[in-house]
Amino acid sequence: MTQILDGKQTSIAIKDEMANQVRQYTTKGLRPPHLAAILVGDDGASQTYVANKEKASHEVGFTSSVYRYSANTSEEELLKAIEFLNNDDDIDGFIVQLPLPAQINEQKVINAISPEKDVDGFTPINIGRMVLGEDAFLPATPMGICSILKHYNIETTGKHCVVLGRSNIVGTPVANLLSRKGFDCTVTLCHSRTQNLPELTRQADILVVAIGKPEFVTADMVKDGAVLVDVGIHRIADESKKSGYRIIGDVKHGEVDAKCSWVTPVPGGVGPLTIVSLLQNTMKAYKKRFNL
Ligand code: NAP
Repeated sequence: MTQILDGKQTSIAIKDEMANQVRQYTTKGLRPPHLAAILVGDDGASQTYVANKEKASHEVGFTSSVYRYSANTSEEELLKAIEFLNNDDDIDGFIVQLPLPAQINEQKVINAISPEKDVDGFTPINIGRMVLGEDAFLPATPMGICSILKHYNIETTGKHCVVLGRSNIVGTPVANLLSRKGFDCTVTLCHSRTQNLPELTRQADILVVAIGKPEFVTADMVKDGAVLVDVGIHRIADESKKSGYRIIGDVKHGEVDAKCSWVTPVPGGVGPLTIVSLLQNTMKAYKKRFNL
């Protein structure tokens, strides 16, 4: 029988615990943790992501602020904003919502974020620390994937994990984390130049899909009893919905789920855990600041 890796429920459990912790600190007279976001331009998806992060921050009692800039903001102006947030003691962590407009060099902007406030875990320092197994802010989506596997006590030791996609924010770091001591998977990392992809995915005890192609993974690509983590998020027009769209993933769940032992749904799987990881990283930065 297929069981659900329920990201929504898992995130509620983690947020409840975090809200309790925040209450304990603020009762003692400390200010609450503060997560900030820089939002450039008016991309609809980015606005939704930032709004969701704000909502989650408020749910756990964090202070949340959003610094909004127009789409024609210069790189210099954005770097100044980052410098300001780096030096603001009232902010524990911040994110720069990606993607950025074409005139701005994303990597230059990421590199300017103080590693101690980089709660997205995107700076070279945090990525280096992660790869070395040192204390680091882990990138939010890979961290969320690890959390949900742990929450449901999914056996990972010695399992063959196939990761589809090698992006810097999902595929590459999750492959790194799952191959580490503690998870102990044997990991195969696939990308657009991989040959005989279905042959490899069919060998996966744990299949993590992050390729950004709607319903790419079909039933013939999945082994019976596999644990399936679908990271993909796509908005598809759907007249029958009040919103005018529905959300689907990188996996054709209608035909694949029945073959699996465990599955993350879309929506309600990896997405909520990504936001929770951001909150956990902010809490970690806050605790460091106040030596808690
Ligand atoms: P990305 O940067 O576009 O990377 C996609 C990866 O998939 C690349 O490594 C690419 O290979 C590989 N790929 C593309 N087509 C392929 C094919 N036909 N066969 C094998 N590999 C292929 O995507 P991303 O940022 O990692 O995001 C992936 C998905 O996750 C998207 O749907 C995104 O919206 C979603 N996402 C969700 C969350 C969340 O919180 N749930 C967070 C982040 C992203 P090459 O490197 O060779 O080009």
